[in-house]
Amino acid sequence: MSSAAEDTPELRAPGRWRPRITHTRPESDPRAAVAAAADLLTALGLDLTDENLVDTPRRMAHALLEMTTAPDFDLTSFPNEEGYDELVLVQDIPVQSLCEHHILPFTGVAHVGYLPGDRILGLSKFARMVELHARRPQTQERLTKRVADHLQQELRPRGVGVVIEAEHTCMSVRGARAAGARTLTSALFGQLRDDPRSRAEFLGLARAGWARRA
Ligand SMILES: [Zn+2]
Repeated sequence: MSSAAEDTPELRAPGRWRPRITHTRPESDPRAAVAAAADLLTALGLDLTDENLVDTPRRMAHALLEMTTAPDFDLTSFPNEEGYDELVLVQDIPVQSLCEHHILPFTGVAHVGYLPGDRILGLSKFARMVELHARRPQTQERLTKRVADHLQQELRPRGVGVVIEAEHTCMSVRGARAAGARTLTSALFGQLRDDPRSRAEFLGLARAGWARRA
C-alpha cells in the first residue's frame, strides 16, 4: 500500500482496522504543577532564589508531565490472510514508568507475545502499547496486566503473554537500597496460559531475553 493510501481513510483496504488509541485519564494542569513543585522544593529546604535553581520547579514539573504523558496512536491491525498461527514475540521493548507509591522511576524491558487469531498487529504497535500504559504512575503488576488486557480486548487473539522485568529506583536508591534487583511480572491469557507447550515456549523465549543481558 502506498503512503498516500495510508493517509486517506477512503482508500484504505477494506480489511484494514485501526482504532485510534487515546488517553482516558484526567487532564493535567501544568501551571498548577509548576507552582506545586516550587512549594515542594521550598519545603525540602531549597532556596529557589538561587540563580541555579530559579527554573528548577518548571523543569521538574515538565519532566514529570513528560513521564506521565504518552502520544496517541493508531492500533493498526491486518487480516491474518496467511493463517499464521505460531507465536509472535517482540522482545526487549523499553519500559519507563513511575511507581505510584514514591513517584520515582522504574525502568526495564517488556516482552510481548501473542498467538494470532483472525487479525495480526503491526509490529511497532507493541512498543506503542507498552509506552501508552507505561507513562503514568502505577505498579509494575498493573502495567503488565493492562498491556495484556488491552491486546486481548483489541485483537481477540488465541493467546497473549506479557513479561516485564524492571528495576525500581524506589528500591535501589532509597529504602532497601537493593541496587540491581529486578522485578519480574507476567500476565498470560488464553492458550499462552492454559496450553503447557505454548506457555513454555513463550516464557522460555522471554527468559532468553533476560539471560542474554545478564
Ligand atoms: Zn515505589
